[in-house]
Amino acid sequence: MGALPKQRISRHRQGNRRRHHALKPLALVTCRNCREVKQAHHVCPNCGYYRGRQVVVIEETHDDDND
Ligand SMILES: [Zn+2]
Repeated sequence: MGALPKQRISRHRQGNRRRHHALKPLALVTCRNCREVKQAHHVCPNCGYYRGRQVVVIEETHDDDND
C-alpha cells in the first residue's frame, strides 16, 4: 500500500504552499546596445547582443510583428 497522509492539509497550508506557484512578472531591462526593452539575462531579441557583444545574428524581419 502506498503512503497516506496522517492528517489532511488545511486550505490555509495548501494555499501557503501554492503561493510559490504564482507566476512572477517578467524582469525587463533596457538593452545596453540598442536601448530596447528586453528580458534580463536573455539575449536581446532586437539586436542579438548579450553582455556587450553580438552573440546572435538578427535577420531582417518584415514589419508585421508589431505587438
Ligand atoms: Zn538590443
